[in-house]
Amino acid sequence: MEPKQFVPSKFCLSCDVCCRFSEADSAWSPALTDTDILKLPKELINQKNKFELKSYKDVYLCPCFRLEDNRCRVYQSRPFDCSLYPFLLVKKDNKFFLGVDLKCPFLQDKQNSHEFQGFVKYLLAFLGQEDIKELIKINPQIIGDYQEDVIFLQEINLS
Ligand code: SF4
Ligand code: SF4
Repeated sequence: MEPKQFVPSKFCLSCDVCCRFSEADSAWSPALTDTDILKLPKELINQKNKFELKSYKDVYLCPCFRLEDNRCRVYQSRPFDCSLYPFLLVKKDNKFFLGVDLKCPFLQDKQNSHEFQGFVKYLLAFLGQEDIKELIKINPQIIGDYQEDVIFLQEINLS
């Protein structure tokens, strides 16, 4: 129950944007669904049901991030939120949207391409599946508030 990936993993492995955050309680750290919490090591999750980020130099790292090789050590069971990124679910004025975070350098290059348009179409169909809509409805924490750098792509109907 995870979407296909738009960004090639080879590109991600040489990027230093994901999995690092500027604050210990960053709004950008992954929101965890009930299912994510069951799959992930309990000692990595705090009382707010978020990852307990670890201070490292001038940033905070996801506890699942492996600095040595720039990889996620729970990749096969990573949170739904992480599998969606750099796309994300956002709300504004009581409406829900599929958005994209332009902090992702791959997206910055691709946002006007046919490939991107095609992927957005695919993702909207993926999010429109009944089981995915249900997952989102019972885990509203995965729909974030409007954030700087996020572009709203299309409204999503969860009913
Ligand atoms: S910001 Fe984009 S390219 Fe960089 S690791 Fe994240 S998804 Fe991959
Ligand atoms: S769970 Fe994995 S992909 Fe998600 S923020 Fe942590 S290290 Fe990155």
